[in-house]
Amino acid sequence: IEQTLSIIKPNAVKKNLIGIIETRLVQAKLNIVAMKMVQLTRAQAEGFYAEHQGKPFFERLVGFMTSGPIVVQVLEGDNAVTHYREIMGATDPEKALAGTLRYDFADNVTENAVHGSDSTESAQREIAYFFADSEVF
Ligand code: ATP
Ligand code: MG
Repeated sequence: IEQTLSIIKPNAVKKNLIGIIETRLVQAKLNIVAMKMVQLTRAQAEGFYAEHQGKPFFERLVGFMTSGPIVVQVLEGDNAVTHYREIMGATDPEKALAGTLRYDFADNVTENAVHGSDSTESAQREIAYFFADSEVF
């Protein structure tokens, strides 16, 4: 059993896609063990995406991620990190497979609807970034 961090990004929240994304998670047997709705400050978004600091899309990414509320969740299941990334699809929705969350819900490579941790190490760091141990069930 493994945990991963999921974010429903501001464009998906604005378009009322929270419910349909949750349904996809349930269908995939990714169980929700923590969840909150928050709006990131600039400092929080920069810290979360620290690995991308200096890249050409960094400012756009931080601007987007602070533009409205997001839903942050911890998902638990077999191979949760890899499994959730399969369900999300490629970063760029034009490269995402049909039926993935990004194929169906992303607007473009920046506003790509969802985030999922890219390794178990990232997942540990990202979960701790948003949740105290007592908030993960
Ligand atoms: P995430 O980390 O959000 O799950 P990812 O792991 O598929 O996505 P990363 O390479 O970690 O992709 O990039 C983080 C985020 O930065 C992407 O989800 C996207 O919103 C944005 N991003 C990445 N590459 C680009 C790009 N070339 N142009 C614009 N935005 C980008
Ligand atoms: Mg990433």
